[in-house]
Amino acid sequence: MDKSIKWDESTSQEWFDVVESWPWEEQGGDWVKQGPCPRCGHQMDRTVAGGVAFALPVAAQPVAIWCNCSYPHEQRPSDRDAGCGSNGRISPPPST
Ligand SMILES: [Zn+2]
Ligand SMILES: [Zn+2]
Repeated sequence: MDKSIKWDESTSQEWFDVVESWPWEEQGGDWVKQGPCPRCGHQMDRTVAGGVAFALPVAAQPVAIWCNCSYPHEQRPSDRDAGCGSNGRISPPPST
């Protein structure tokens, strides 16, 4: 995709809405949400440990998510090794 997309943490509502719409999928006991980053188009994912055992009250808390694509983006801070900067907090996986 477009490598000229620069690091930017000012995430749009559109980005948030698209990521929020991806389903949580159970994989090997963990919850995984993944898809192409709505901003840079690179594959990103978020894994929450627990799966069916994830039934603690903390499950009701929003989950932080950020683009963690493995492609280069200009102006990425030196302490970050992935993503385009887009990030937000989304609904947690189901706690059943
Ligand atoms: Zn990217
Ligand atoms: Zn991205």
